Amino acid sequence: METLCALPGVAATHVQALVSSSRSPGLQSLKVGVNKSETGTSRTQKQILRGKLRAAMSSSPPRSGDEVTLMDGSMGRQLCLDGLPQDDLFSKVWSARALVDESFHGLIVQAHLTYIAAGSQTITTSNYGVQPTYYQRVYPEDWECHIYRDTEIAARLAVEAREKATTAGTGVAAPDASTVRVLGSLPPFCESHRVDLFEAALAEHGEDFFVRIYRGVAEALVRGGVDAFIPETMNNWKEASFALRACRDFDLPIILCLEGALRDEHMRPHPELAPSMAKLVLEEKARGARIEALGFNCAPPEHILASLQAVKAEPGLLASLREADIQLAAYANCCDREAVHNQGFDGSDTNRVTIRRDLAGDDNQFEGYTKFAQQYISNGATYIGGCCGCGPNGIVSIRHLIEQAQNSSSLGP
Ligand SMILES: [Zn+2]
Repeated sequence: METLCALPGVAATHVQALVSSSRSPGLQSLKVGVNKSETGTSRTQKQILRGKLRAAMSSSPPRSGDEVTLMDGSMGRQLCLDGLPQDDLFSKVWSARALVDESFHGLIVQAHLTYIAAGSQTITTSNYGVQPTYYQRVYPEDWECHIYRDTEIAARLAVEAREKATTAGTGVAAPDASTVRVLGSLPPFCESHRVDLFEAALAEHGEDFFVRIYRGVAEALVRGGVDAFIPETMNNWKEASFALRACRDFDLPIILCLEGALRDEHMRPHPELAPSMAKLVLEEKARGARIEALGFNCAPPEHILASLQAVKAEPGLLASLREADIQLAAYANCCDREAVHNQGFDGSDTNRVTIRRDLAGDDNQFEGYTKFAQQYISNGATYIGGCCGCGPNGIVSIRHLIEQAQNSSSLGP
């Protein structure tokens, strides 16, 4: 993988986003230029300081006891329902189709607003498809520049959505929207659910390549104004550790989410490995990583439940996680994808995706998935949302579950 676009502060030629303020909507004024003279060091330091300031001020959520935080659901599916074309470009970059084409930026803001209105207390940036494998299909020469550019745009659009939701008179104001946290996604670099492809890329390019790109993604997210990082669907601990190394430079909280079935390179699920993953997270936090939560995501709900149960079954492990102030997060894939994941997932093949009827129900109210959410909570998870296929209705249904639990105090590990 050749790169034309080095990191700010590392080399003389770098991408520089010409933006005025991370809190300003100003998307029209966002341009990407190449500055050949600056080292970029001072700018990078400012960004890191800004991240530290934000972290100190607001990025740690107020938590007490068994309080449950409601995350959002699938952005990709929502964007398609709202009108994102599933054309040739979509098949190459998936949901990043909406970032590549500025005319769809409004759809991204709208999708975030839909989740805020549903009650989501966190919204995740829409750059899951902004990764090297996909972007090299569209930008063979300067894919790395486009990755950082579109990642920053995704962060700024999420921040813009929160601002809109907190602004009276916009017609979309939602109560408590000002407390919604923007989580910056760090996606898998090769493919989701494909340990084999990750390992092949690691053998070819080396770990410094992964850490360097993740650092560029993290920096772009900080420039865009995120409150925390969320490496998602990490194929294995190695990929997760590369993302962690990159995120540590920016001193924002990290919600580290592993592919929830913990599949091996032959696509076989291994939820029994979840306790060892939790112990690695404890070690990383003891070494200074600001890990706020360990998550399991994008696997079928049954596999994520098995991973959580394995953590709970390990004597003393839940207590150790609590002592270290590490929450457990869970957001499952509600699509009928088990056979595809077993064979080897290919992100360009999204035409035959269907939502599991047993999870969504005939009325699309996600009663079946909400029952899994209840079990996640009773097995120790305190951050709950939905991944692929779970739309706003699923988030509303989980919100009702949480509200009922708060009223009756009947849930909790
Ligand atoms: Zn997913």
